[in-house]
Amino acid sequence: MKSCGPCTLCCTVLEIPALSKPACQTCVHVQAGSGCGIYETRPTPCRVFTCGWLATPALNADWRPDVAGFLIRDERDQGHLCIDVDPDRPGAWRRAPYQAQIRAWSAMVRDKSGCVLVYEAGDVTVVFPEGDIVLGSLGPEPRLLVGYQGKGDRRRPLVRLLSASDEVLREWRAPTA
Ligand code: SF4
Ligand code: SF4
Repeated sequence: MKSCGPCTLCCTVLEIPALSKPACQTCVHVQAGSGCGIYETRPTPCRVFTCGWLATPALNADWRPDVAGFLIRDERDQGHLCIDVDPDRPGAWRRAPYQAQIRAWSAMVRDKSGCVLVYEAGDVTVVFPEGDIVLGSLGPEPRLLVGYQGKGDRRRPLVRLLSASDEVLREWRAPTA
């Protein structure tokens, strides 16, 4: 059975509206060495959150968020596996052994079962098996369509930013598949 131990990374990277806490800013209730200073009365999002490392027995101690420098947020019910990077450790997800595994997970885009999004310093990056597409800053909860354009050898990773009415606002294509 895993436990958070000294990790408090979700208390930094996650947005907690009930506390008016923005993403990537450490919660004022974090107490060094002892975790949450309002544990008994912490808001519901804090109570229910479980990061991907805690929920996945196969991920070893190297993947504990404070060690890895990012946390995994499983939102595959909404079509995303999210990587939230510690603002103090930019690029942490690109180190070995992490990037290769994260890229392997991104293969879900090929059967249209989801995609991997990396949130880092306000920017969004979509990970594909073929490479990454950096979208930049898109604001909270962008509506993204992630997949491919073309077929076979001519297939190219494609990301579209959609409006609430499914209008295509922006489009990004990888140079090669
Ligand atoms: S990121 Fe995961 S391991 Fe770290 S404190 Fe949050 S739930 Fe626990
Ligand atoms: S209230 Fe507690 S659990 Fe919630 S973000 Fe703040 S320190 Fe973390």
